[in-house]
Amino acid sequence: MAASSSPSDVLGRALAEARWPLPRLFKMSGAWHLGAGATVIAAPAQWEWALGAVVLNHALIGATGLWPRSTWLGANLRRLPEDSAARGEVGLTIDDGPDLAVTPAVLDLLDAAGARATFFCIAARAERHPDLCREIVRRGHSVQNHSHRHSHTFSLLGRAALRREIEAAQRIFADVTGEVPRFFRAPAGLRNPFLAPVLHHLGLRLVSWTRRGFDTQRSAPAGVLARLTHNLRAGDILLLHDGNAACAPSGRPVVLEVLPALLERFERETLRAVTLSEALHSTVLPRTSETSGVIGAHEVMVAPEGVDASEVGDGSEVANASDASAANLPADAPPHAPCSTGNRVRA
Ligand SMILES: [Zn+2]
Repeated sequence: MAASSSPSDVLGRALAEARWPLPRLFKMSGAWHLGAGATVIAAPAQWEWALGAVVLNHALIGATGLWPRSTWLGANLRRLPEDSAARGEVGLTIDDGPDLAVTPAVLDLLDAAGARATFFCIAARAERHPDLCREIVRRGHSVQNHSHRHSHTFSLLGRAALRREIEAAQRIFADVTGEVPRFFRAPAGLRNPFLAPVLHHLGLRLVSWTRRGFDTQRSAPAGVLARLTHNLRAGDILLLHDGNAACAPSGRPVVLEVLPALLERFERETLRAVTLSEALHSTVLPRTSETSGVIGAHEVMVAPEGVDASEVGDGSEVANASDASAANLPADAPPHAPCSTGNRVRA
């Protein structure tokens, strides 16, 4: 990490984060606190009501972090932009890989349909399977940031810890693929008020989804497909998983059972699956000597244009405890399996 700890740099970073556009909920909360303070000054006997109002406000902020599609904690891409939708594009996103047993089959299915997808990969897994990560990019897809470790405590991290986690992932993806991620998806979509300013500083855009299939929990492919295609239309962002995938009754990962039918549906409705970068005209930033030092720093991540429970199960690829330790993954991670037979993870 090339980030300096000199006071001027610390101040500079703090100021850069301070310039992020304040969400409406934050403005309302500020007014709420001022109102509570004014109430106590004007009528000290009402302090219990004022305190209750502040506690309610914080409860609302906390609850909002449990709502992956919310925009109350900052910008959140839930659909593709209108011009992309007008071109008949949909955003297919595939999370929690790369997975040696599942991702290659997903790539083959996408190739056969001429579809492109955005893979929100876990950096620790990308580090262990760099060739597979590069293969995703080589086939025309996009690899984006889904955190370093995909910890189930991600949404409880403070600002500095969030930045370390996300910056570490940025560096790994840039080293592995040669491209700097532009999009971030929170593990399970859960977050807290510190995430938006950190992403703003790193030049990353938060992405959730229009609909998700819950394919880490649901084993019936028909049900997952029905969820994804309910009111399907251009501009939708859909979520499936190549990592932590649940097992279909056939014994295969659900994503491999759902994807062919989903891609057929796209074709019938003349929808074109594209990467988020393509939909938003984002320019791929190559890893260069300039970007290698401060990957993701605001200054080198200028956006070219325009505007998701105690998940984890991160260790499904981990063969043993020592591998888990090396990858910073849970030591009790299960042995490698092509799909998960339990319901221990949430999408
Ligand atoms: Zn995930």
